[in-house]
Amino acid sequence: MDPTFFILIPAMIFAFFAQAKVSSAYAKYSGVANRKGITGASAAQTILNSNGLSDVPIEMTPGKMSDHYDPKNRIMRLSKEVYEGDSIASVSIAAHEAGHAIQHALGYKPIKVRNAIAPIVSIASNLAWPLLIAGIILGFTGLVDLGIILFASAVFFQVVTLPVEFNASTTAIAQLEGLQIILPEESGSAKKMLFAAAMTYVAALAMSLANLLRLVLLRNRN
Ligand SMILES: [Zn+2]
Repeated sequence: MDPTFFILIPAMIFAFFAQAKVSSAYAKYSGVANRKGITGASAAQTILNSNGLSDVPIEMTPGKMSDHYDPKNRIMRLSKEVYEGDSIASVSIAAHEAGHAIQHALGYKPIKVRNAIAPIVSIASNLAWPLLIAGIILGFTGLVDLGIILFASAVFFQVVTLPVEFNASTTAIAQLEGLQIILPEESGSAKKMLFAAAMTYVAALAMSLANLLRLVLLRNRN
C-alpha cells in the first residue's frame, strides 16, 4: 500500500469522532424540550424580528439536519424537526441559521468572501480529481499541478467557512440568551449542541488538508 495513505488516518479518526459526536448531541438535545416550549421556527422568527429581518421568510425543508440559510434568495429553510420541534436542539439550530441571516445583513466579511467564491470553487472542486487522475495516467505533471491548485481552492473555501460557522453559533447563543428564548441553565446544552456541529466543519477541513498534503507528496515523489 502507498505509505502516504497513513497521512489521512488521523484526520479520518477525527472526522469519525466529530460525526459521532454531532449525531449523539443531536439525538440527546432533540429529546430535551426547552423550558419555554418554543419551537425552532418561533425562535428564528423572534431573532429575525429583533434584528430588523422580519422580511426573511422561514420555510420548512425536507430531510434531517438539512437546515440552512440561503443567502442568494434570502430564505431560511428549517427541517421539520427543527421547525416544529421545541427541543434544545431545535432552537439552537434555528438560532444558528438566523445567525447566518444576521451575518448576511451586516455584511460580515468572511461570509461575503465565501459567497463570492462559492460558484467558482464548486466548479474547481468538481474538476480537481478528474484532472489529477488524467494527469497521473498520462504522466503529465502540468495537469496534476492544476488539479492540486483546484483542490487547494476548495480547501481555502473550507478555511473561510470556519469563522462563518463559529460566528453564527456565537451569535446564536447570544441571541438565545439575550432574547430569553432559553433560560441561563439551558445555555450549556445549547452550546454543546452547536459546538458539536461546528466540529464537523473542522474535521472536514482536517480531512481536506491531509488529502492536499498527500497529493503534494505524491506529486513530488513521482
Ligand atoms: Zn452554519
